[in-house]
Amino acid sequence: MGLGARAIRWIPTDAEQRMDVAALRRRLREDREAGRTPFMAIGTAGTVSTGAIDPLREIAAVCREHALWFHVDGAYGAPAAALPEADADLRALAEADSVAFDPHKWLYAPLEAGCVLVRDAEALHDTFHHRPPYYHFGGEPDDMPTNLYEWGPQNSRGFRALKVWLVLQQVGRAGYVGMIRDDIALARAMFDHARTFPELETATCRLSIATFRYIPADLRPRVRPADAGRPVEPNDDEAYVDRLNTELLTAMQDEGEAYLSNAVIGGRFHLRACIVNFRTTLDDVRMVPELAVRMGRAVDARLREKR
Ligand SMILES: *Cc1c(COP(=O)(O)O)cnc(C)c1O
Repeated sequence: MGLGARAIRWIPTDAEQRMDVAALRRRLREDREAGRTPFMAIGTAGTVSTGAIDPLREIAAVCREHALWFHVDGAYGAPAAALPEADADLRALAEADSVAFDPHKWLYAPLEAGCVLVRDAEALHDTFHHRPPYYHFGGEPDDMPTNLYEWGPQNSRGFRALKVWLVLQQVGRAGYVGMIRDDIALARAMFDHARTFPELETATCRLSIATFRYIPADLRPRVRPADAGRPVEPNDDEAYVDRLNTELLTAMQDEGEAYLSNAVIGGRFHLRACIVNFRTTLDDVRMVPELAVRMGRAVDARLREKR
């Protein structure tokens, strides 16, 4: 927006990493009282780390009351709104003025295909339309060409839309609903399987993202469960468990059997699995907690030797 990062108000989240709408309302009031003009609120439909979905219905209501533009970052999670069983907050994407989403994530398009949907297309034209004298794209008045540079920041560009359109032609809406539903079920299966290992502490399971961490059996009683709502300073054992999981993640990535990434929840380092591949199977996801325990033990032994 060109306003600088200081113009952004970060709104706190609750224990489930969802925006605290009361805090949003307070912040709006304070800014108004200070003579500032808030004009947009941004919610997230599927956060990067845990797949949390903000209370989008309530945020939409706040936006209506305060005449704010309602943008939703659905880069990862937006396509899941197509599922009939999607929760009401996810479906409240329908109330957004604009939604960003990445077909290269949950529409399985090859990298890269970023996308923004804007309810009122004229808003794009009003923003970007510009006819410099060195561009003359003719056409009949009743059959004018669509010049994409008049609808967005980019002029010359590749035909990214083709790969998105082709898959839609091939699998259609029903195909996507089936594949996305499978991914969500696979993440749940991994989470449930992780729960059965005493050395794994499961944290979150939202959309197709499951998070957990490895805690050596003897340290378990000395490590507090991560509380996303109230991050606390780690004691020595908790700091060690953070380090252990950091090294475990690197070891798993190097080893190459499964690719996990990380999520920091309540200040603590967790392993994060995000399933966005229609080739992933139940066997694949059941293997991951087993691998995490096996490698967790090895990394723990190595670190203790050095301790
Ligand atoms: C991936 C992601 C982004 C960044 O998207 P890029 O395509 O890498 O620019 C932003 N927000 C969320 C929620 C994401 O999952």
